[in-house]
Amino acid sequence: MLKAFLFLILPIKQPILTYEPISVFDIFKIGIGPSSSHTLGPWRAAQRFLNTLNSNNSLYEVAAIRVMLYGSLAKTGVGHGTDMAVQLGLSGDDPVTFNVHGITGKLDHIANKKRLVLDNRHEINFDPKEDIVFLFSETLPFHPNALSFLVTFNDGNQIAETYYSVGGGFVVKENEQVGGHEAAQLPFPINTADDVLHWCIKTGLSIHEVVLENENAWRPESQTREKLLEIWKVMKECVYKGCHTSGLLPGGLNVRRRAADLNKKLLKGKPYNDFDTWLNAIHGGGNDFRYILDWVSCFALAVNEENASFGRVVTAPTNGAAGVIPAVLFYYALFNEGSSDDQVIRFLLTASEIGSIFKKGATISAAMGGCQAEIGVSSAMAAAALTECLGGTQRQALMAAEIAMEHHLGMTCDPIAGLVQIPCIERNTMGAIKAITASQLAMQSMPDYAKVSLDGVIKTMWDTALDMNSKYKETADGGLAVNVPLSLSEC
Ligand code: SF4
Repeated sequence: MLKAFLFLILPIKQPILTYEPISVFDIFKIGIGPSSSHTLGPWRAAQRFLNTLNSNNSLYEVAAIRVMLYGSLAKTGVGHGTDMAVQLGLSGDDPVTFNVHGITGKLDHIANKKRLVLDNRHEINFDPKEDIVFLFSETLPFHPNALSFLVTFNDGNQIAETYYSVGGGFVVKENEQVGGHEAAQLPFPINTADDVLHWCIKTGLSIHEVVLENENAWRPESQTREKLLEIWKVMKECVYKGCHTSGLLPGGLNVRRRAADLNKKLLKGKPYNDFDTWLNAIHGGGNDFRYILDWVSCFALAVNEENASFGRVVTAPTNGAAGVIPAVLFYYALFNEGSSDDQVIRFLLTASEIGSIFKKGATISAAMGGCQAEIGVSSAMAAAALTECLGGTQRQALMAAEIAMEHHLGMTCDPIAGLVQIPCIERNTMGAIKAITASQLAMQSMPDYAKVSLDGVIKTMWDTALDMNSKYKETADGGLAVNVPLSLSEC
């Protein structure tokens, strides 16, 4: 039992209502690739729109639905599976449970029949080519990732709702307050890295213990642990599947999957047919620097190749950056003896708090801040978590997060052909390695002498996001996306 009693004798630093409560399960979410803002967010928006129809008892009165995609959702929506996500969402399917092998069949069925079964109950005419409208040159002022659902009822009346996918799968309805999370009075309200440190110093708790106390305000500790281990299970399955699946990625760029080849090479061609023996074989291969480096890359590639193939992944804190946390967590589990349930839980709790303060102080949306908001944030999350788990102090953990982000500042988002493949997949290997280096550097440093604080780097990241040209914000209008002569094959 944690030292919750300490909180009873401590003054509350600021009024609780000024803090945006974000849970570890807002940061880590089970879903389907390839993008949290362009796939998971629109999918959730469609589900929420179904809720509106159901709460009005108007679902069976729907005659037609048209979906309008604005800004970045229009520009990179096809490559990011936005059209797929809204159709599955409107069909009443859930990204956590939907069988990823059934996606193509279901979409083909809708396209061929030009019929969609709304919420799996009410069939309407729906032609994806006509009824999903990509408004390439229109952007709504609140956020570049906007989508509207326009419904026509049998009596001719119409209603429309607009949603914003604000990064990491978070969705905000028009005129709704950002956050929208179930209100909870957290014992340790946090917006900044200074707040984290404040509570750690006041209570003597480590970062993950502070986070766990806050999570206890939402649900019993046993449930939090269970759900976190489910997150870890999905990460492990994703890494294993990615390490054993070869071939070309979908989308037309003909990008060859590399994790399976690397896995085979590192295991000298020997097959291991179940997860545990495979893990033991990796663990038994020694701890040569290049061997470990190769495995960290392999784990990250595996996750993001799965993500690019519409596979099941954990958003961490986004899908494009979903490989960084599992790669560093596997590194910790395999090469630092950190595989116990407690250690994994500690890692995920710490990482989530760092993601959360980046979301509050800057952004985790590439459409707002470029790739620094995705790979940069995931690297900072992993760096802090690894440091805390390896026995670093709270200051060293925050310092590690700062170092990791400092060296991602300004990183643009320029995915070729709007697909989450190049540079995205490799970029996860870089984010993971930088996280490990940042952690190591922080563990060997005295944070009191650091010149840059984590809050300072979060503010800098946000300022950089504001200054960044919009073509580098998930539009595929700049950078590699226009300079690399790769074109989509006709298909
Ligand atoms: S370049 Fe970075 S931010 Fe952009 S889609 Fe790829 S991983 Fe996401």
